Amino acid sequence: MNCKVGINGFGTIGKRIADAVSLQNDMEIVGVSKTSPNYESKLALDRGYPLYCAIPDRISEFRDKGMDVEGDLNDLIDESDIIVDCTPGGVGAKNSELYKKAGVKAIYQGGEDHQVADFSFNSLVNYEEAYGRDQTRVVSCNTTALCRTLYPIKKQYGINKVRATMIRRGGDPKQDNRGPINAIKPKMKVPSHHGPDVMTVIPDIEIDTTAVKVPTTIMHFHSINIELKNKNTKPEDIIKTLEETPRVTLVTEEHGIESTAQIIELARDANRPRNDVWEIPVWKESIVIKNNELYYFQAVHQESDVVPENIDAIRAMTKLEKNPTKSIQKTDKNLQLNP
Ligand code: NAD
Repeated sequence: MNCKVGINGFGTIGKRIADAVSLQNDMEIVGVSKTSPNYESKLALDRGYPLYCAIPDRISEFRDKGMDVEGDLNDLIDESDIIVDCTPGGVGAKNSELYKKAGVKAIYQGGEDHQVADFSFNSLVNYEEAYGRDQTRVVSCNTTALCRTLYPIKKQYGINKVRATMIRRGGDPKQDNRGPINAIKPKMKVPSHHGPDVMTVIPDIEIDTTAVKVPTTIMHFHSINIELKNKNTKPEDIIKTLEETPRVTLVTEEHGIESTAQIIELARDANRPRNDVWEIPVWKESIVIKNNELYYFQAVHQESDVVPENIDAIRAMTKLEKNPTKSIQKTDKNLQLNP
């Protein structure tokens, strides 16, 4: 029997995870919850996902707008083997007591602190530790991207120290209230929280990060500098390692990929749903080693890179698959991530 997945919070991340679950043959969506009867609630119904109201007293608001609601959050929990909590940062922590009390497994997103589950997940790094767990946090878009490239480099060449700058999008495309519109806004907390967040997944890495917000909505961008342990490492070695790493893709200026704009255009041309880029694109030309220090640039599609990780976390926690590589391959094949 398929694993029954409930999505609490059908927004940017939740709707993508729901669609990705629907593409797998070992799990299915039993319902999604919304707080208000808006266009995303209508989308859920159009896609055939049973709709639940996250706030019980609001059920009549949905029914007044002609939207069929199956019940409230407690009913969704009853129907589910696992809940993927995709509510705004901080709400997941409040919901965690409800999930624990109901004895339902739960996945939280990167807007929550590590303590929400006491376990932070990345498929490549610690899939085995998620096997059979009741509570897991899939780390944020930036942390997922950093883990995807740092982990294989650390494993093969050793890392003394990472310094990375996150050039962050001001808001997601749908967020008409975010900014800056015409400024570059540095995060004054130096180092930023991203380095410690990477250490919740890869504890024995030394990393400091800084962060800046810029007026763009489509992607984040990372400028990464690594002091390598192995002094004989060549750029070709790093290229080969990243080419062999799942969910990392090399892009090149030679093909006219000179910015995040062209990466999104590639995804649009490939008819990717919502122009999603689940992989982390790394610019080949930016992979340079000088005095044993590695430099590279990578882009992050913040709305979608965490989606495959959520699918793998479901598979590990509900014991559908013990082998990380098999789960990663299955997820990626069903998403058609590789073409
Ligand atoms: P979002 O605002 O797009 O969606 C959140 C959804 O939760 C909305 O449908 C909203 O109606 C619903 N909601 C609000 N309050 C709720 C409540 N009390 N109970 C149930 N549902 C409620 O947010 P998002 O961007 O999808 O972010 C969700 C989580 O994913 C956050 O932890 C965020 O940090 C994380 N995340 C976001 C991004 C990104 O770039 N958007 C990337 C990675 C991780």
